[in-house]
Amino acid sequence: MEITCLDLEGVLVPEIWIGFAEKTGIEEFRATTRDIPDYDVLMQQRLGLLDQHGLGLKDIQQAIATMAPMPGAVEFINWLKERFQVVILSDTFYEFSQPLMAQLGFPTLLCHRLIADDSGRIVDYKLRQKDPKRQAVKAFHSLNFRVIAAGDSYNDTSMLEEADAGILFKAPDNVIAEFPQYPAVDRYQDLKLEFINASERDIDLGST
Ligand SMILES: [Mg+2]
Repeated sequence: MEITCLDLEGVLVPEIWIGFAEKTGIEEFRATTRDIPDYDVLMQQRLGLLDQHGLGLKDIQQAIATMAPMPGAVEFINWLKERFQVVILSDTFYEFSQPLMAQLGFPTLLCHRLIADDSGRIVDYKLRQKDPKRQAVKAFHSLNFRVIAAGDSYNDTSMLEEADAGILFKAPDNVIAEFPQYPAVDRYQDLKLEFINASERDIDLGST
């Protein structure tokens, strides 16, 4: 039995905080773990910025609703779902991802939660667990699934390591150089071929 795990941001949809920075014109939302390595410090800064600009859950969801999956992503995930069980493992938040997941046909998503008060002001966030991508792969192993995983960045490498087969998709050069054990591709067409290669079953590429 096989299951496939996909990262969300950078693989199927653009980076959500960067998109949010563009929609709102508030440049500080562009900061990522590359700028502020401590995730909690980064999230507290983001929550502070939301407060400072009077932005609540509704505003965020409205901005994100105008974003779209990456070109080809919808066709790719439909292709994958026809051939494999698919689970998205992401470090985003359900409240953020909803409008984009709607466009992807609501695949199964394991991520985190934002906590809002009655007025819609975001007061905190709740990570589902520590090292969630690795833990999810471990859990699928305990259910006797063989796991094929694809992601684009550092927060995916524990998932790729734990999986039976890992693939880098649209990864930056430094990640590709640091993790040469994984095949690295940039086009959905090639990603399909990597899933076929990684599978122990005979998978048909289809006509696309
Ligand atoms: Mg990513």
